[in-house]
Amino acid sequence: MLEVRDLDLFYGDAQALDDVALDVGEGEIVAIVGANGAGKTSLIRTIAGMNRPARGSIRFEGAEIAGEPSHRVCNLGIGQVAEGRQVFPTMTVRENLELGASLPRARSGAREMMDRVLGLFPRLAERLGQAAGTLSGGEQQMLAISRCLMGRPRLVMFDEPSLGLAPTIVQDVFAIIRQLNADGFTIVLVEQNVAQSLSLAHRAYVLESGRIAMTGTGADLLDDPGVRRAYIGL
Ligand code: ATP
Repeated sequence: MLEVRDLDLFYGDAQALDDVALDVGEGEIVAIVGANGAGKTSLIRTIAGMNRPARGSIRFEGAEIAGEPSHRVCNLGIGQVAEGRQVFPTMTVRENLELGASLPRARSGAREMMDRVLGLFPRLAERLGQAAGTLSGGEQQMLAISRCLMGRPRLVMFDEPSLGLAPTIVQDVFAIIRQLNADGFTIVLVEQNVAQSLSLAHRAYVLESGRIAMTGTGADLLDDPGVRRAYIGL
């Protein structure tokens, strides 16, 4: 579904991605793990059309999207749940959801998707008229995920979805990602919670200083002594 090759990204003179290659097959959960500053967010933002790569190719379902603007990438079916629960705080839950459906690809199916999303997240259904900024942290993350789904993505990229959430809510977020995958969404997952993301992922990539240092099944990387030492602390 997604094929990244030879990808280089610079911020000024500083290279953030160096010759990155990555594949995501339809129906997979693919995790990207790495230390702070390794380039995980940069990679997701480059795929999403928010950073312009200096070199390389990004193909989504056969179409070249490297350097395309983000609204076009979104409209092809790549959704992103950005780090930090990005909801519009003064808008209601309903308005946030409706905004998610403003992509051309999503307009005609918006009502059906709203029903589906509210079925997944009954707490949001109870709070449609409430200002998004007054939701709890966990509820805001559910709303950020729901708003992304309203755009009818086929691939959903999550950037640190559990960051700053209480442990019980973190479990909910992982359960939701598993559920979305079972419902047919393909997933790219960047998570500081390395052990959990590797257990959830079919395959994973380890990013070190902007380069892919290792790749394998989630289970293989979870068993790898180097990965355990560096990222899990065992
Ligand atoms: P974290 O887990 O801390 O979020 P990350 O793996 O997501 O880290 P990135 O945020 O992609 O890493 O950052 C990769 C490198 O690029 C870092 O050295 C960072 O300082 C740098 N960087 C990121 N965004 C910018 C920017 N807009 N301008 C300049 N440098 C940037």
